[in-house]
Amino acid sequence: MSWEYATLLFVYGTVIGSFLNVCIYRLPREMSLIRPRSRCPQCQQAVLWYDNVPLLSWLWLRGRCRYCQQPIAPLYPLIELLSGLLALHVGWRFGMTWSALMLALLGFAFLVLMVIDFYHYILPDVITLPGIVCGIAWAASPWSSAPLATLEASVIGAISGGGGLWFFAWLFEKITGKVGMGMGDMKLFAMIGAWLGWQSLPLTLFLAGVLGSVVGIGWILLSGRDRSLPIPFGPYLVSGAWLYLLYGTEIYRWYLS
Ligand SMILES: [Zn+2]
Repeated sequence: MSWEYATLLFVYGTVIGSFLNVCIYRLPREMSLIRPRSRCPQCQQAVLWYDNVPLLSWLWLRGRCRYCQQPIAPLYPLIELLSGLLALHVGWRFGMTWSALMLALLGFAFLVLMVIDFYHYILPDVITLPGIVCGIAWAASPWSSAPLATLEASVIGAISGGGGLWFFAWLFEKITGKVGMGMGDMKLFAMIGAWLGWQSLPLTLFLAGVLGSVVGIGWILLSGRDRSLPIPFGPYLVSGAWLYLLYGTEIYRWYLS
């Protein structure tokens, strides 16, 4: 990949990241994604277009609002940076195919779901439900190719993902008497199955469980987090799915050897 092309992918990614920030802020608050234009959450001043340039604006404003001087959360430039890297990585790893483009969109949706679940403990239906439908529709289209699922794997993936996690949650509740997972997690898992196929589900769930335990225990030990607080599972499901996508074959091969 030429550096011009890599730069272009990165820049496009950061621009999309800027829109993802809008989704992350507004979706859990049930606000429109289009109107009004971006405002400072503290002083409500509309953000000028030249203060809205991904990554750069945050740097030249030194992380503060132009009007009220209140700090702008570093999460904003972080999401823009991650989105740029995501676009770059998918382009580099999967090349210029329609499926790679869809994969990048899936990655952007994952990023939004991850952050919203982390802060608000919800996985909005407006992303997961169309996510399931689009995953199956894409698998049915003639442009679909690996690493995305075939139509059969996609349909089985959506059904067994949603149903499987429902069963898992039911079992967990029976054994421990606690509610471990929400409906949102089940819809997200169905969405993962719809895009990556049923083959992705066991390893995704396993990786999510390992990641969730490691991070959860670390969090309780290091920051003294109250262990009775719920730990959102969405970020780990999404991370597990992404790890499967990038290293699934290697992990399976390593495991079988
Ligand atoms: Zn302000």
